[in-house]
Amino acid sequence: MLKVMFLGTSASVPTKERNTPCLYFEHDYDVRFLMDVGECCQKSLISYGLKFMRVNHIFITHWHADHFAGLIGLIQTMGLEGRRKELHIYGPKRSKEFLDKLLTVGYYNRPYKIEVHELSPGDVVSFERFTITAFKTYHRIPSIGYVFEEKPIMKANMEKAAKFGLKTGPLIGKLKAGETITFKGQTIKPEDVIEEVKGLKVVYTGDTEYNEDMIESIKGADLLITEATFAEGDKEKYVYHMDLKEAVTLAKKANVKRLVVTHLSRRYVKEAYDDYVAQLKNMFSDAEVAHDGMEIKLKR
Ligand SMILES: [Zn+2]
Ligand SMILES: [Zn+2]
Repeated sequence: MLKVMFLGTSASVPTKERNTPCLYFEHDYDVRFLMDVGECCQKSLISYGLKFMRVNHIFITHWHADHFAGLIGLIQTMGLEGRRKELHIYGPKRSKEFLDKLLTVGYYNRPYKIEVHELSPGDVVSFERFTITAFKTYHRIPSIGYVFEEKPIMKANMEKAAKFGLKTGPLIGKLKAGETITFKGQTIKPEDVIEEVKGLKVVYTGDTEYNEDMIESIKGADLLITEATFAEGDKEKYVYHMDLKEAVTLAKKANVKRLVVTHLSRRYVKEAYDDYVAQLKNMFSDAEVAHDGMEIKLKR
């Protein structure tokens, strides 16, 4: 099970209803990580009762303050709460330089180590049951997006098992382990019963302008979380960001199952917000606009 929680969904500046970008992930109830850490991230982590002390990995898409300004407070709080475990922070090039500066500002005691990892597009961070792969995004400064992908698992097809008279039990376990078994005079090979089940794929772009080179990384995602800073027609001189039409086009071309747009410009309140939502629904009826506190649970 993967739980994704939106702790910040506003572009550049917070609004009364929205913090700047931060995503909280919880996988199989034990691995927790963040993507981007906007200004009020730690207050949201506490308000929603999320176990932030068990966050051991933080992925930053790029070094614009709306995506990292919450780091220093969170890092200090973790120290005050007695953290001893190492914290891993990942980001695009120059992450080491920026974190070096951030971690030496002010007076505080940090009783734990921070390991900084600079990632290039294509770099893979491997966990026991999933991987996170960096991909190139198209912002004004060095930036990357992240692809979360569960590793495939071997699962018994119980319909196929029933044809041999097999029920859940140690024999199924042996087949899963790749052993051929004999049961009631029948020789059963693993491939007769066991199937590979594809894992969940969730993609977060961070800030980017429209570029079809990203499709390769996004394709087939169960969930695409992408920025759509503007409604169609509102982009004017702003580049390096997407509008709704571009975000939807990207999602459709990449054949994603579910689209959530985030990083809304602060102009989208009241009627302007309603128009933004209506425009999205017109283009892609199943798509959703993220809001702070929104929770999504996905199962393979
Ligand atoms: Zn931003
Ligand atoms: Zn940015």
